[in-house]
Amino acid sequence: MILTVTMNPSIDISYPLDRFVLDKVNRVKQVTKTPGGKGLNVTRVIHDLGGEVTATGVLGGFHGKFLAQQLDQEAITHDFTSIEGETRDSIAILHEGNQTEILEAGPTVSQAEQQTFLEKYQQLIKEAQLVTISGSLAKGLPSNFYQTLVKLAAEQQVRVLVDTSGESLKQVLAGEVKPYLIKPNLDELSDLLEKKLAIDRLAEITTALQQPIFQGIEWIVVSLGKAGALIKYQNECYQVEIPRIQVVNPVGSGDATIAGLAYGLSQDHDPKLIMKECMAAGMANALQVKTGHVDPADFHQLVKKINVKKLD
Ligand code: ATP
Repeated sequence: MILTVTMNPSIDISYPLDRFVLDKVNRVKQVTKTPGGKGLNVTRVIHDLGGEVTATGVLGGFHGKFLAQQLDQEAITHDFTSIEGETRDSIAILHEGNQTEILEAGPTVSQAEQQTFLEKYQQLIKEAQLVTISGSLAKGLPSNFYQTLVKLAAEQQVRVLVDTSGESLKQVLAGEVKPYLIKPNLDELSDLLEKKLAIDRLAEITTALQQPIFQGIEWIVVSLGKAGALIKYQNECYQVEIPRIQVVNPVGSGDATIAGLAYGLSQDHDPKLIMKECMAAGMANALQVKTGHVDPADFHQLVKKINVKKLD
């Protein structure tokens, strides 16, 4: 199975409004509340694609119980560590073509809870083929926490796919044990390298990926939104071109991309097919209103329309 890790999950609340008026009462008719946090988006998309997946991380309080119930309803296997603090809400107000977000920081994880999670994680990776780690760390966890998770998995020969940014990405790359795959978008890669990279200067990106900090990472997937992706696999770089689609909601397409990668890798697919699958999953997510959800029929159709080009 694929093990997905979400250390700061949330209940994602969406408030669609015709007009959002500041300093007035705004009444919402159609509220949706879904399990969120990047790792849970990844989980749902793997499940949609028919992959075998177990979600882990930390959950707390009344919100945590609600989230676990929702996962049960979707028949998604989960095994979270319970914590004292209340799992957070993340609110997205959809108005006049805009998305205004209000994101809580989330609970603090104590030392003892961290230890309990690590013990569970070590049990779970014994059953796992692959691990995905996504999103931000909860308060209380050290910034090298993901490095610890990568190392523990590597000790059991389990490959780890990491999708994070900022300090936790820097820390993961600084460790002696490297993740199997990372998926920065262009902004995240630019931040990491402290250099402004652009889609119209692909050669600069491929050169940047040769830097020593990336050595030992089998897959580097630089996702480029509607422009597809630039992928370094082993020692070669590939440009993945995607067709234009009628986008409904692209939020979570990066998470769907990770799900497509995990799915393809877990099925031992050919690397070029995996490159197509991860793009198709990101695109199929962008065709849905619900964040972190794909229709497998869209996915299979889109795979056929994607072109992988090896770069010199
Ligand atoms: P997010 O943070 O919203 O999860 P991201 O910035 O990590 O996204 P993107 O590069 O925006 O990731 O998107 C990942 C993949 O999803 C793209 O490589 C592409 O395959 C697909 N995708 C995203 N946006 C679009 C779009 N507007 N049109 C077509 N495909 C898209």
